[in-house]
Amino acid sequence: RGYQNVALVIGVTGIVGNSLAEILPLSDTPGGRWKVYGVARRPRPSWNEDHPVEYIQCDITDPQDSQTKLSVLTDVTHIFYVCWASRPTEAENCEVNGSMLRNVLTAVIPNAPNLRHVSLQTGGKHYKGSFESFGKIKYHEPPYTEDMPRLDTNNFYYTLEDVLFEETAKKEGVSWSVHRPLIIFGFSPYSMMNILGTLSVYAAICKHEGLPLRFPGTKLAWENYYMASDADLIAEQHIWAAVDPNAKNEAFNCSNGDVFRWKQLWTVLAEQFEIEEYGFDEEGPRLKLSELMKDKGPVWDEIVEKYQLQPNKLEQVAEWWFADLSLGGTGFTDSMNKSKEHGFFGFRNTKNSVINWIEKTRAYKVVP
Ligand code: NDP
Repeated sequence: RGYQNVALVIGVTGIVGNSLAEILPLSDTPGGRWKVYGVARRPRPSWNEDHPVEYIQCDITDPQDSQTKLSVLTDVTHIFYVCWASRPTEAENCEVNGSMLRNVLTAVIPNAPNLRHVSLQTGGKHYKGSFESFGKIKYHEPPYTEDMPRLDTNNFYYTLEDVLFEETAKKEGVSWSVHRPLIIFGFSPYSMMNILGTLSVYAAICKHEGLPLRFPGTKLAWENYYMASDADLIAEQHIWAAVDPNAKNEAFNCSNGDVFRWKQLWTVLAEQFEIEEYGFDEEGPRLKLSELMKDKGPVWDEIVEKYQLQPNKLEQVAEWWFADLSLGGTGFTDSMNKSKEHGFFGFRNTKNSVINWIEKTRAYKVVP
């Protein structure tokens, strides 16, 4: 009662979904008061329960489940799509991710007469290419700008955009926006790509075993400039685009607005976990967490017991593959000019962002 707008967040327990679930219901959020529906497959986790969201368990890869559970949400005014599926090849990624978004849009668009906007999250791989194509194709040189043309290769982000354009065009008055963050710093133990969560687990294991916190990446990654995207900032940009007419039918980069080097953030990580010996090993082959950490399941179980953490297994809270990929390349940077020119001035101090998210991960007892 008394709601101005009604949000449907697809992927509400993910790294940006959880931020949207927290920010949308606040009384001073633009476009508010918002009523919020949130969708994910698993039962609602305890760390998401505080947010005033109507939680819907639905598997959007299943067209029938999507129709049954989403077509009845006739009061939805805005869709925030912050979800994805990972498959072994990019061709399969295109197929499954394209049909997931289509399942949502074909269930909601014809049945929600007041629907006005669909906000889609993709990312910097729009410019750099899919994981599968890393190192195999020539990609755009950073800093990335939104006007760079699509690369001549399979990419599920392009499929998602095409589905978005096609389905929103079927109904007059429904606008869209696309949001392209770089690596995301946020909180979600259910995220498939949570770099800070993964590095916090690595640091906790090093601390517990009295090992130095060695940088598991390349020298280039240690030295080069990067940019990151704070999950709350991305949520703020989604909400801005949903309510501001200047943002309609446009794609926007979304990054913090400052640059960092991993060698600087490594000091922050070491300080947070009170590890005195840390750094980049010039000698020897490149370290990979998927190798270094492969037998640490029992050590993690010990840590969970000692500090009374949430009863997560190591593989649930650490995506070693993602850290190995992220710390293996050259730096990524993008430009926030277009976003600012259209009226979004949000930013984050990356060092503070790192500290905040580690503190939150600790407060929810995911790491000690
Ligand atoms: P996350 O992996 O953090 O979260 C995914 C969410 O979707 C979870 O709530 C998950 O819950 C839910 N979900 C997954 N599959 C289904 C399904 N079949 N049906 C219903 N819900 C489902 O997502 P991200 O925010 O990381 O990813 C969104 C987009 O952002 C992707 O395109 C990604 O490539 C991009 N991106 C991500 C970056 C990052 O660092 N994380 C960086 C740049 C871009 P459950 O598993 O319980 O279903």
